[in-house]
Amino acid sequence: MNVSDTEIVNSILMEEGMQPVNEPEDAEVVFINTCSIRENAEERVWNRLKEFKAMKRERDGDMTVGVLGCMAERIREQIMEKEELVDLVVGPDAYRDLPKLLSDVDDGRKAVNVLLSLEETYADIKPVRTNDNGVSAFVTIMRGCDNMCAFCVVPFTRGRERSRPAESILDELKQLSDQGYKEVTLLGQNVNSYDDGENTFAELMFKASQVDPEMRIRFSSPHPKDFPEELLESISEQPNLCSYIHIPAQSGSNAVLERMRRPYTREQYLELVEKMRDIIPGVTLSTDIITGFCDETEEEHQDTLSLMAEVKYDLAYMFAYSERGRTLAERKYEDNVPEDVKKRRLSEIIEQQMSIQEELNKKEIGRRHLVLVEGTSKRSDEQLRGRTDTNKMVVFDRKDFEKGDYVEVTITDCTSATLMGDPIKKSSIAEFEAEPVAV
Ligand code: SAH
Ligand code: SF4
Repeated sequence: MNVSDTEIVNSILMEEGMQPVNEPEDAEVVFINTCSIRENAEERVWNRLKEFKAMKRERDGDMTVGVLGCMAERIREQIMEKEELVDLVVGPDAYRDLPKLLSDVDDGRKAVNVLLSLEETYADIKPVRTNDNGVSAFVTIMRGCDNMCAFCVVPFTRGRERSRPAESILDELKQLSDQGYKEVTLLGQNVNSYDDGENTFAELMFKASQVDPEMRIRFSSPHPKDFPEELLESISEQPNLCSYIHIPAQSGSNAVLERMRRPYTREQYLELVEKMRDIIPGVTLSTDIITGFCDETEEEHQDTLSLMAEVKYDLAYMFAYSERGRTLAERKYEDNVPEDVKKRRLSEIIEQQMSIQEELNKKEIGRRHLVLVEGTSKRSDEQLRGRTDTNKMVVFDRKDFEKGDYVEVTITDCTSATLMGDPIKKSSIAEFEAEPVAV
């Protein structure tokens, strides 16, 4: 989401005649787009700011440093008064104000705008994608979140939920398709509660699938509460809506889910998983898990392990709980699971997850997949890398294939993170006939 926001900021600044550069050393103005979701994300930003402070000193102050995004609201006082690290602090809904704020800084003033908005979706701003691979793009479709999960700072840093009009989203998809993009990820903090007054998320997904049948559509990050059958059926029926769904569980324990203010039980969650697998044969699933949330007992931790063992996710993002200011958990509960216990529980779930992933990936050996080539493999220029419809990374020999090609590949080997394959031929979504998957 920050990548996508940066593309909006690029657009606003380039309208003003500014140009992006590759290295901070070459820049007159440096912005860091920040994240507040966990403590370590914020620590990284503080370290970067200290580096920039040193750089600025070397240049006799001739450099403007700004903080954008979620940390803006949380730390503006600290940052502006105590640390003297930053000239400009701009929250996620105030990017249109950047040109004015920059000129305030030129006039010798510090500049701050951290106001959150009920309407801002930057719908009319055409993102400038300076740093992507020309194959896959992000498109933000809604902003903010109204869910107020007890652990989460997002509703405080990014404000209320609002959806961008479908028409402007579909126009952007059309432009991306004309520019040769082959894959789009629709983004929102709570992407499947999308509702612009005329379209639900399911309706938007269907319309998005019709823009270009050879352009894959993905989405991130959804909430388990908004998965109507209509949406699952569209994903199943439209070949370019990818058969991969992220469904953040957070915990496998009903008591923890309740303390987290997640509005589902383990049983309801498992029912949803079953429904997804029924309606979309071969669908792959991923999740987010928080370990060591307030008062989490050993038994509750075991519930998370057993949920993950039961679902068998293809991918999981796993985190140790990190207390965030202003959240319900910070105000009402105690962050009382000791750090070493959080770490041990986290490594237990990671270890189990890695072996599940390896087991699932081994089953892929011998299957055929349609892989969209994203670029060369990190290890060798002679190999290409791309993803299956089900979001699995595949590496295979370059031969005559190129970035942006759809290639039919037979899987020959795997690790817990990557599949290796033999390319058969260049293909397309329309041509490729997936083999039936045993469920
Ligand atoms: N809107 C998405 C998640 C956005 S944040 C959803 O509801 O699922 C991405 C992930 O960060 C969350 O799913 C959660 O697993 C993790 N996260 C959020 N707050 C956290 C915290 N305080 N400590 C640790 N992990 C956290
Ligand atoms: Fe945070 Fe996601 Fe919950 Fe919203 S739904 S409060 S973004 S975890």
